[in-house]
Amino acid sequence: MDTYSFDELIFSSSYIGGEFKKFSDKVFPVNNPANSEKWAEVSDDGVEGVEKAIEEAKEAYPEWASLTAKERAEVLEKWNDLILAHKETLAQIMTLESGKPIKESRGEVEYGSSFIKWFAEEGKRTYGDIIPTPSADKRILTIKQPIGVVGAITPWNFPLAMITRKIAPALAAGCTVVVRPSEQTPLTALAIARLSKDAGFPKGVINICMGSDSSGMGKAICESEVVKKISFTGSTRVGQILMSQSSDTLKKMSLELGGNAPFIVFKDADLDKAVEGLIAAKFRNSGQTCVCVNRIFIQDEVFDEFTKKFVKKVRELKIGPGMEEENHIGPLIHEDAVKKAENFVKDALKKGGELLTGGEVETGQFFKPTVISKATEEMNFFREETFSPIAPLFKFSSE
Ligand code: NAP
Repeated sequence: MDTYSFDELIFSSSYIGGEFKKFSDKVFPVNNPANSEKWAEVSDDGVEGVEKAIEEAKEAYPEWASLTAKERAEVLEKWNDLILAHKETLAQIMTLESGKPIKESRGEVEYGSSFIKWFAEEGKRTYGDIIPTPSADKRILTIKQPIGVVGAITPWNFPLAMITRKIAPALAAGCTVVVRPSEQTPLTALAIARLSKDAGFPKGVINICMGSDSSGMGKAICESEVVKKISFTGSTRVGQILMSQSSDTLKKMSLELGGNAPFIVFKDADLDKAVEGLIAAKFRNSGQTCVCVNRIFIQDEVFDEFTKKFVKKVRELKIGPGMEEENHIGPLIHEDAVKKAENFVKDALKKGGELLTGGEVETGQFFKPTVISKATEEMNFFREETFSPIAPLFKFSSE
């Protein structure tokens, strides 16, 4: 098995029909959130690339669908092995484009590849049903078949795992795929596309489209008669747009959208364990995951003690570039995310919140881990996903 170096896994155009191809002379930058500098650029292939990818996926579909699940599983397993063999390189690419601490990126490579392994196996168990019939002369059975070309639109916060979680089941079932990753994190997607080629996926089975025109590219996928299903992870707002754009073609859709997760501490809790759990649940990827805790409810009898322990631990978190092993908190993804975090803090302080630590930018796109006490339902973070390292503490008296 070939092992590629970092440079050998960096690509600068879409992966369509089994080749890296440009469909435009325009490019868009890939920035490193840790220093806000451009470190790569990729061709801005836009809608033209998407249309070509859909054509290639359509052409590749009959042959891929006609393989047995076992044959498809063999290719998927090989892809999984190649991804794991390049774990360190993929983790570095991911950290450089997303800012995520390197240990979390390594974890994501394993987490992301686990979907490939799982669905390679599950594809072999795509059983049907025998259904009792109301007529003596009839027999009813259902079988499951691949649906055709599947479109996948993925966010930047899990640049590898959100792709494999969507396309591994589709590929195992016999579908071909057109992926549009976030423009913030195109390189991880292209690197795993390269490995898919070595794994033996026939041309056109996996297509990855590059471009900065997220709405135009998304619309092209939604409105295509060829694409039969869309899988999307991202914000509720964009999920609604995609669903509405897909209504004319009555697509099947799987949408994983935003959340505003609570964390509740009752007076009988083991406070040290609760603090440990909260640090992990709040500050993973600097608070930029859909399952990050956003509202922390603490019963009044233990509020002061819990808060003291929590703030102490938060102050110990190390902020700095994700490539440095010892750092826990990396940068936010872009300037807008930093502004959004600042606005949450401003709004809370204006409405009576008390800042216990953090509350401001450390440098560049690094936002200090923040704890705000005296949080109320009137504050914006009560309703909106913060997607930043801000922990608002709400006091409650009874369940
Ligand atoms: P987002 O703005 O909805 O973006 C998600 C993806 O959609 C990106 O690829 C984005 O491209 C693309 N996009 C943006 N506007 C589009 C449009 N009009 N048509 C088609 N595609 C469009 O979400 P985000 O802020 O990047 O990601 C964070 C959100 O994802 C949070 O709400 C989080 O909770 C959610 N999330 C959920 C899960 C889950 O498992 N439920 C997992 C991870 C994240 P560009 O980035 O290039 O603009």
